[in-house]
Amino acid sequence: MRKPVIAGNWKMYKTVSDSVATAVALKPLVANANHCEVIIAPVFTALKSVADRLEGSNIKVAAQNCAAEQREGAFTGEVAAFMVRDAGCSHVIVGHSERRQYFNETDTSVNRKAQAVIAADLTAIVCVGEDLTQREQGIAENVVRGQITGGLRELTASDLDRIIVAYEPVWAIGTGRTATPEQAQEMHAFIRRVFAERHSQSAAESLRILYGGSVKPDNIAGLMAQPDIDGALVGGASLNAESFAQIVNYK
Ligand code: PEP
Repeated sequence: MRKPVIAGNWKMYKTVSDSVATAVALKPLVANANHCEVIIAPVFTALKSVADRLEGSNIKVAAQNCAAEQREGAFTGEVAAFMVRDAGCSHVIVGHSERRQYFNETDTSVNRKAQAVIAADLTAIVCVGEDLTQREQGIAENVVRGQITGGLRELTASDLDRIIVAYEPVWAIGTGRTATPEQAQEMHAFIRRVFAERHSQSAAESLRILYGGSVKPDNIAGLMAQPDIDGALVGGASLNAESFAQIVNYK
């Protein structure tokens, strides 16, 4: 039985005090959400304050990125996975399409970062997804397969429980255009087959695969009704405590 995950990606929004205020407002709204894991991903500067305020609650904290380097060193501007764990995080988002698009993130760096997250004893939420041209060309599955085999090339069977995959079609992120539940289900089932081929059927069946792309309170239930959709990575609609709580409490 895969426990669903509803994760909020706050992107580059909110100061420390705004982040803490939103996290504090969210706490009572999702306190009874035992059906899923709840995660929020504030900006780096707010991680520690938010994690401290959420201690003892059912909300976990994720970083939105981390360094590929596993040890501290002369890497100006970088933050290591073990440092975000030290700040109170349990998860790190890796390979978000905005990082691939604007910060030259590649499958090679995604692989190194996922390894760094696992080495720090954290869980990586690894994002994959095709853009609109690739979907229209009919190569979406090949693109996603390549992102998995390249971005998780060093993943071993024993590390599979340290990975959550987020399928986020780029054409649906921040556009208001959601994949239909059927389109998302089709790709999620495909991703599970790729993991079954690479690892084992049982590993594939345990893997949590989240959908991301304009998830809102009014479309979450339809997505969650699909057999291979195990949760959501939510951007815009996670910035507001009430709307994110409605998504968490989709049941
Ligand atoms: C995201 O940032 O991962 C995302 C899916 O954004 P949005 O929900 O705004 O499309």
